[in-house]
Amino acid sequence: MNIILLGPPGAGKGTQAKRLVEDRGMTQLSTGDMLREARKADTPIGRRVSDIMDRGGLVTDEIVIDLIGQKLAQGSDGGFIFDGFPRTLAQADALEDLLASTGQSLDAVIQVQVDDEALVDRIASRATCRDCGEMYHDVSKPPRQDGVCDKCGGEVNRRADDTPESLRTRLLEYYKKTAPLLGYYHVKTGLSTVDGLEPIDVVAERIDEVLGE
Ligand code: AMP
Repeated sequence: MNIILLGPPGAGKGTQAKRLVEDRGMTQLSTGDMLREARKADTPIGRRVSDIMDRGGLVTDEIVIDLIGQKLAQGSDGGFIFDGFPRTLAQADALEDLLASTGQSLDAVIQVQVDDEALVDRIASRATCRDCGEMYHDVSKPPRQDGVCDKCGGEVNRRADDTPESLRTRLLEYYKKTAPLLGYYHVKTGLSTVDGLEPIDVVAERIDEVLGE
């Protein structure tokens, strides 16, 4: 089963994707994580994307399509969760071609819906482990020891692009380039919507209802 989690930055796509990895043995494909890894490893791609990412803009379609193509070629027994990809219509078309060329298809597209005010609050309060990607929230889920990951002991801090200016750009990019995908998938594959403002476990249940056993 291959699914897309669609929604603005801070909607909780990454949190739900990680849960699906644990519960269903699926493979999370987060282009944001892949790009952050490329930056950390200081690869040519990492250097190319670092300014645009910090400003909250989208990197070129070509770069992310290439990253996804490489991962799809490796296959996944439990299926793929696309998290933060596709973000443009060109990426959606490319994904369709990539899946078709490996004899696969999309089984569900799930919109995680959250209003803008909640996003601003969530993003201002969130922090991530730089090593394992575990996510924290200042109020609802702080690390037991300040700045230290409960899971792996790595360093927990804010993402460089979780600033008010960058968030504004990311939201504008979302409405301009990514939101049109909602209509596109509504017609193309059918679109399911879950309320991302519910507690994490409830959102997880709703997603399970969409996916079935
Ligand atoms: P995310 O972790 O999904 O919020 O992504 C962080 C940043 O990586 C975004 O603000 C973009 O700069 C870049 N990025 C991630 N995925 C994509 C994508 N599919 N297309 C273009 N840029 C992306």
